[in-house]
Amino acid sequence: MNNPDGRVPFLIAGPCSAESREQVLSTAASLSGKGVDLFRAGLWKPRTRPGNFEGLGARGLEFLLEARSLYGLKICTEVGSASHAEACLEAGLDAVWIGARTTTNPFLVQEIASALGSCAVTVFVKNPINADLQLWIGAVERLQKAGVKNLGLVHRGFSSYAAIRYRNSPQWQIAAGMRRAFPSLPMLCDPSHMGGRADVVEELSRRAMSLGMDGLMVEVHCNPREALSDGPQQLAPEEFLRMVQALKVARSGEGDAAFGRSVAAYRERMDGIDEAIIDLLGQRMELSRLIAARKKEEGVSVLQLARWDEVMERVRRLARSGGLDTEFVESVFDTIHAASIAEQNSIIEK
Ligand code: PEP
Ligand code: MN
Repeated sequence: MNNPDGRVPFLIAGPCSAESREQVLSTAASLSGKGVDLFRAGLWKPRTRPGNFEGLGARGLEFLLEARSLYGLKICTEVGSASHAEACLEAGLDAVWIGARTTTNPFLVQEIASALGSCAVTVFVKNPINADLQLWIGAVERLQKAGVKNLGLVHRGFSSYAAIRYRNSPQWQIAAGMRRAFPSLPMLCDPSHMGGRADVVEELSRRAMSLGMDGLMVEVHCNPREALSDGPQQLAPEEFLRMVQALKVARSGEGDAAFGRSVAAYRERMDGIDEAIIDLLGQRMELSRLIAARKKEEGVSVLQLARWDEVMERVRRLARSGGLDTEFVESVFDTIHAASIAEQNSIIEK
């Protein structure tokens, strides 16, 4: 691991689901002694459609316990209800996680929090399916109020209606908001559920590390092609170990005076550019107001779709020729457009 200041990412790895004793033990054997902090395997699987493999349930606990005693790995699984949490406490698991579908539901989170009480197990809270920072914060608060001491966060991306490169949209800014809300809690990234495909797990892991995340939860299966759930996104053990070897861990850099000096000139120029951007946005908004006044006089509708398509086509072209990501530029202009329409509406309604 190439980590300049000795910071090592916290690693959770293991199959999406526990499928059989052989599959659990074979995957655990290949991860043993390789720097994995927690071995994962889902026992109760929240499947989108009925009729798919829904996990071994509580009878899979013994396979996890056997993996721990044979291979010295700490073990964890997903809990989606109070009874799952109770079964895990009784079995003596080292950690559990609350999955994205469950974090979405405050009733379930509350039940789980009450069942866990002031337990010693570590509880990881994945982000909710929908991009709602408050819901994620609320889940952590419920666990804290119930007395859970050891907490961690897992960013696995957010469901998106639009077709995107990944299974779940990263929306890294929401994870950043969560770190701001709970600065002392470790934040891991789950590139497997975020990406949805094995070939993007590495790029997402690198991104997470360069954003200063504390670790990763990665789905690793002894034979991904035969997996009963999430086959396309699981890595074979050797792929996972090679990826981890190559990961560069970014150090935070905050409070590092030498680093601060080395980028001071760039930051100063960047601040100047930010001022110019704000100034230009103000000028653009002023033009919007003038146009709104004309629309009002002429009784013309605020939203002019053809004009907007033209604007977007033009900025996409400019983005491409400027070497910028078109999706990024589109999202900036969507925001500018929304603010402009809101401003024009308020003028016309006066
Ligand atoms: C999982 O970790 O197997 C899982 C179901 O994840 P998520 O809750 O992120 O979908
Ligand atoms: Mn999965």
